[in-house]
Amino acid sequence: MIVIKGVPASPGIAIGKAYVLEDEEIIVNKTEIPKGKLRMEVKRFKAALDATYRDLDHAEQKVLKTLGRQHAKLIDTHRLILSDPLITKDVPRRIESEQVNAEFALSEALETVNQTFEKIEDEFFRERRHDLFDVGKRLLSHLLKREKRDLTTIDAPAILIARNLLPSDTINLKETKILGFATDLGGKSSHTAILAQSMEIPAVVGLSDVTHRVKTGDTVVLDGDHGLVIVSPTPEAVTKYQKEQKKSIREEKALDTLRGQPAVTTDGKHFQMGVNLDVPEELKTVLALKPDGIGLFRTEALFLNRTEPPSESEQVRAYTHVAKSMAPHTVVIRVADMGGDRLVQLGIDAPKDEANPFMGLRGIRLLLRHPDLFKTQLRAILRSCAYGNVRILLPMISSMSELRASRQLFATAQQELLAEGVELPKKIEMGIMVEIPSAALLLDHLLTEADFISIGTNDLIQYLLAVDRINEHVAHLYDPFHPTVVRVLSQIVETAHRHGKWVSVCGEMTSDPRAVPLLVGMGVNMLSVSPRMFLRVKQIVMSLSTASAAQFVSKALTLADSEDIQRLLNDLLDAGALPGHGPAADGHEPS
Ligand code: PEP
Ligand code: MG
Repeated sequence: MIVIKGVPASPGIAIGKAYVLEDEEIIVNKTEIPKGKLRMEVKRFKAALDATYRDLDHAEQKVLKTLGRQHAKLIDTHRLILSDPLITKDVPRRIESEQVNAEFALSEALETVNQTFEKIEDEFFRERRHDLFDVGKRLLSHLLKREKRDLTTIDAPAILIARNLLPSDTINLKETKILGFATDLGGKSSHTAILAQSMEIPAVVGLSDVTHRVKTGDTVVLDGDHGLVIVSPTPEAVTKYQKEQKKSIREEKALDTLRGQPAVTTDGKHFQMGVNLDVPEELKTVLALKPDGIGLFRTEALFLNRTEPPSESEQVRAYTHVAKSMAPHTVVIRVADMGGDRLVQLGIDAPKDEANPFMGLRGIRLLLRHPDLFKTQLRAILRSCAYGNVRILLPMISSMSELRASRQLFATAQQELLAEGVELPKKIEMGIMVEIPSAALLLDHLLTEADFISIGTNDLIQYLLAVDRINEHVAHLYDPFHPTVVRVLSQIVETAHRHGKWVSVCGEMTSDPRAVPLLVGMGVNMLSVSPRMFLRVKQIVMSLSTASAAQFVSKALTLADSEDIQRLLNDLLDAGALPGHGPAADGHEPS
């Protein structure tokens, strides 16, 4: 038995025979093209370009049908690559100036870009080169008149082992007999990994040489939760994994029954269970979970990757659609929290080279610097209020003056709309994110002007502990169980309740099964959870008693060390308080 460790890309366990995919290396020869035939060669290239566009249209239809609009955006990315001057202009230029065949000119152009991609440090952006290869391969296949490989021809259930899988291979996986896949290359944030997660196909990537260590027909266990490939497993290992596989199927089924049920604790307290909506395209998934509301609608996606801000009417459409679909449940729409790691290219005056962007012109600071942008969003949200139960949330509030300035702009937007004859509800609640220590400490004052609060633990932890949330060098210090975090959270909830205000928690901490008893014990009103963890967290809430969770919090508040708090939690876990809690469920990662 050989155990190979890679990067967990899509969770789940698959057991079966391996199918090793031959590397689809396309060898490109250089041919000299006589001067008189250069025009024809460019024409041939353009015909291949057109054929590739048609391929993409076809792929888009397929993705729309099987995976939905969110993933169809991948095809837009591929269209953008295809229409880049690097392909449309540079390749014909190379053909003509170097007098070479189109295949060679194309592969040279692609290699130049690949070298640029390889230098990128950020993994997410580096991984985007696979999209470039994907488009390049489609184009080359047309030039060489080669059929693209078709995984539906694999005629028995198998675990696919490949050097690399491109997004265009992955799109079709649901139509194949493939149980899971393992690749030498690839990272967690590649489109291939993202697609595998959406299709719920277990996957491990970044295994370096798995294609050399496995042969077609070998028995393989693929553990997508822990990033393991086990080749020729012992009968004991197979039995162990079969048991785990059955257990997780049972657990998924049990979780399914919780959709739409009220989240009531064992001592009869009802908790509101909300979902975080990061992109409007996820709405379908969110609705299927039947939550009590959307506790955080992050609107940044509407503003990113574009050079002009979205118009008021474009925003009205987006917010109204969400508000209508969720009605009568609440939708908390957060005005755009841009800046930090969410860089804007909106043509507005925003700094691009801040030394500490998370402490820079971000969230409410950026919006107040650009009142027109801010007011347009407020007007759009206000217009959507008639269609559902909408509340407004302000990110990154650190002082009373920011809250007052926002309220003032909000009042102006309201007056404008009323003067334009738009009907508005009498009262629209405006709340603040509590995610900066100064807001936590000033909360009693802020609550005189804020209608509710939502605790953003992702930022609150980074600012309380001085640990950059995206810096891997200090990731071990990013600790939701640090006694300071527990104390501050408890103080925030207590202060808000003393002022009779509604409290939601919307950071990733709500998706960490170990943190749920703490938040329930503090008595927050809503947990707003990422869609993927929603049902599991709900199951935990329903297995807890508020009285014992509150006792647990009182004990935790006396402790000086994170380890002691975690030990206390582990005792709770050992006592069986958290259903379905396993080693794979305990990682905490800020989003
Ligand atoms: C948070 O900070 O916890 C939060 C929910 O906001 P974001 O992750 O969007 O900064
Ligand atoms: Mg935040």
